Amino acid sequence: MSTVVEKAVNPPPGVNPPPANLTAAAAAALAPAKSNEYNRLNLDFRKPIPRPKVNGIVIDAHTHLIAARHAKAWFEAAAHYGIDAFVTMSPLEEVLGLQRDWPGRIQFITVPAWQNPSVDDWLRRLEMFYNLGSRIIKFHMAPSTMATRKIRLDSPALRPVLKEAAARGMILMSHVGDPDTWYSGKYTDAAKYGTRQEHYAMWEGVLEEYRDHPWLGAHMGGNPENLPRLQGLLDRFPNLYLDNSATRWMVRELSARRDAAREFLIRNADRILFGTDQVSGDDRGFDFLASRLWCHRKLWETAYNGPSPIFDPDLKEDQQPVLRGLALPDDVLQKLYHDNAVKLLARVRVKF
Ligand SMILES: [Zn+2]
Repeated sequence: MSTVVEKAVNPPPGVNPPPANLTAAAAAALAPAKSNEYNRLNLDFRKPIPRPKVNGIVIDAHTHLIAARHAKAWFEAAAHYGIDAFVTMSPLEEVLGLQRDWPGRIQFITVPAWQNPSVDDWLRRLEMFYNLGSRIIKFHMAPSTMATRKIRLDSPALRPVLKEAAARGMILMSHVGDPDTWYSGKYTDAAKYGTRQEHYAMWEGVLEEYRDHPWLGAHMGGNPENLPRLQGLLDRFPNLYLDNSATRWMVRELSARRDAAREFLIRNADRILFGTDQVSGDDRGFDFLASRLWCHRKLWETAYNGPSPIFDPDLKEDQQPVLRGLALPDDVLQKLYHDNAVKLLARVRVKF
């Protein structure tokens, strides 16, 4: 935690510092990389691995490439694991450098500035992001974020941002919910955080209002633990798509209900986009980044049944998850890794 605070006080030039009031998720994401947490199996992450069996480029639709100076290690690890292009949440200040250095490889998601999350500033950034080509906007409405920022997806204060993005024809994207392990842990104070039931009622209300707009629900709609809930959402909202990002969360929860998860992904193969939720960082080199990509490829493509190289801080040391690969059929992988992202982005006239 002290490292994070130091970074916040003294950010490198041009880079948004993390917020002073970091959510636990952000703090965990920014914690210094320790090899015993991302390579517990002593894997050689540089061992050759064939590209995914996909026609066309492989697109990672949910990432956080947060600084141009992180891009070299990022693209090196991605190339090794056969991932070509990214939809990413980068601070506005980093967009031009990344666009210049990696033309055609990155699409940007409109995000607010963490240090100034005022709606006015967000609206200005929306316009700037849009002018730089961004056609998708993310609303981070995890329980901890809503509690800290005192804003919800259905807050009157947020209306102008939603309205403006919709008027510009952008894809709306949200992070609603969080892992069950968090609801039964740090979110037990329902007066402060609300309940999962309330959070999904909030989301559905806004989904209903924007039902004609494409909407991307991050992290399997924030509830991979409850596939029937997700099926209901997909059935009721035909313009809703999900991404399957967040490595530890997906490894833990999809492995835990492996057969049902496999059926769900096959049944909804047209509505789910591959994403990793990879987060770049100054101390995140090839191996750290590779560990996430290794897990995703094992989870979607293979029938691997064994330990994960990544430590899951939500579970005790002696209860670490078994990664149980879904071995998805080739035609499903084609949609996940390529077709669905192309199709969704085409709706906002964007292509890689
Ligand atoms: Zn994310």
